[in-house]
Amino acid sequence: MSEQSPASGPITDGPADPEHDSTATYALDRSYVASLTRRVLSTNGETHAVSSPIGRAPLAHIPQSSPADVAEAFARARRAQVAWAATSLDQRAAALLRLHDLLLDRQDELIDLVVWESGKARKDAYLEVAHLALTARYYARTAHEHLDPHRVGGMFPVLTRAEVHRVPQGVVGIISPWNYPLSMALCDGIPALLAGNAVVAKPDSQTMLTALLAVQLLDEAGFPPEVWQVVAGPGPEIGGAITAAADYVCFTGSTATGRLIARQCADRLIGCSLELGGKNPMLVLRDADVHRAAEGAVRGVFSNAGQLCVSTERLFVADQVYDRFVDAFVSRTQAMTLGASHDWSVDMGSLVSQAQLDKVTAHVQDAVAKGAHVLTGGRARPDLGPFVHEPTILEGVSADMQCFGEETFGPVVALYRFHSEDEAVERANDGAYGLNASIYTRDAARGRALARRIRCGTVNVNEAYGATFGSLGAPMGGMRESGMGRRQGAEGIRRYTEAQSVATQRLVPIAPLLGMSEETNARVMTVALRLLNKLGRA
Ligand code: NAD
Repeated sequence: MSEQSPASGPITDGPADPEHDSTATYALDRSYVASLTRRVLSTNGETHAVSSPIGRAPLAHIPQSSPADVAEAFARARRAQVAWAATSLDQRAAALLRLHDLLLDRQDELIDLVVWESGKARKDAYLEVAHLALTARYYARTAHEHLDPHRVGGMFPVLTRAEVHRVPQGVVGIISPWNYPLSMALCDGIPALLAGNAVVAKPDSQTMLTALLAVQLLDEAGFPPEVWQVVAGPGPEIGGAITAAADYVCFTGSTATGRLIARQCADRLIGCSLELGGKNPMLVLRDADVHRAAEGAVRGVFSNAGQLCVSTERLFVADQVYDRFVDAFVSRTQAMTLGASHDWSVDMGSLVSQAQLDKVTAHVQDAVAKGAHVLTGGRARPDLGPFVHEPTILEGVSADMQCFGEETFGPVVALYRFHSEDEAVERANDGAYGLNASIYTRDAARGRALARRIRCGTVNVNEAYGATFGSLGAPMGGMRESGMGRRQGAEGIRRYTEAQSVATQRLVPIAPLLGMSEETNARVMTVALRLLNKLGRA
């Protein structure tokens, strides 16, 4: 593995925390940070210090919101939502298309901030820009298809006219994680706004600045600032105030927190969608092109240093190609450039935090202590950055090891041989999760048929995750403990609406006609029902 030295000197702007460290310097200009953080609704004067995984450079003190601030954010959003819902769909879609262009125009600034806050490789940060631009364009162009009122068959042809409208939920609470700070900041909120909702967003504390820059772009694109409120703070402290006031909650994060949110929403009988964890399998079939599969596995396992909900953590390889695949996969992995820096040449960046590094280290050490072999990687690399960990391939992982069934959320994969495809499907479906899977084969039709047997919300044939993730018309989300509900596609926007049916009865009532007995009415009705069935009516 080749290596990148840590980031070149940060932009300095005086001492970061003069009380505690007179040598620390801010990585970002303080007036720039202030221009972003003013969008946080915070009245209690408290702040939270954030530093970068790149050299632990101090980044900012983020104002914190109290539960009362969260309640005020909902009140403001609720007031603004009424006028927002009254705007035309075309007006809202036009703002989204302006956002699309702003994202592309301001990509360098966005990427810089994503890299500062997360330590990820620049190429991974770019994919966030691309995903968000795709999301904005997709929903802007398909808004009418998903949201326009439409006629459905009435009870009686001609006599009953029925139509379905999509009514916005109201104010949507969006709680997002740190792993895709830009993409997760807006991708779920864009369809909520388009459908006529207001949003109160709580991004993760580590990645507030990126989320706030994204909100600045929303403002510049022409969305009224009041329809997108931002609150900041630890989830356990202000999360309850969000679920207490929202009309709908969209949560992305761990399965443990997802369960808690679902319970809180159930108590209030409000809806929620939950995008949670995974332990995603990749299957390399006996007829696979092993080089293409190895290249896909590098992307599937090590993109974003494995901190990706759809990341591959279990690799099942057919006996017949196992040795050739492993050789190709290991040598490609060893050729990766690691580093914690802003340079485009980094293939795999840093983990986001000490907590992530500790978890990854614990999973690898536990596996090794119980008899797994490290084919490559296996160590933290403090020489490259405080939270950098090598891309790691394990063999001989067994059910008693933590990394067998628990999500690692890091650059670690376990390799397993399989002898038959039935066995591979059974093992892929094992465990609690069901988020993403991938299948490599030269026979794409066979791959698609096998995909249908895998209990995951997305399955990619001859790609690791990008094919489903980037196909915005295709719903994305988890089965089983990987979540509820879907982002992307029709489901991704209709979740933010309630269906309202309006039916108009013409000429005759749905009741016995004047003077007709109930018995006669039942006979007439039965004849009508038989006739409608003969005519093939729904
Ligand atoms: P987490 O659940 O701890 O935190 C995620 C978000 O929830 C953060 O904003 C956090 O502040 C907030 N939060 C934490 N506790 C809360 C509470 N009690 N009430 C309300 N909000 C609370 O998750 P994490 O460990 O930071 O994130 C990584 C996890 O997210 C992984 O398990 C990963 O698989 C999952 N994830 C899933 C997807 C997906 O689309 N399925 C995408 C990204 C990440």
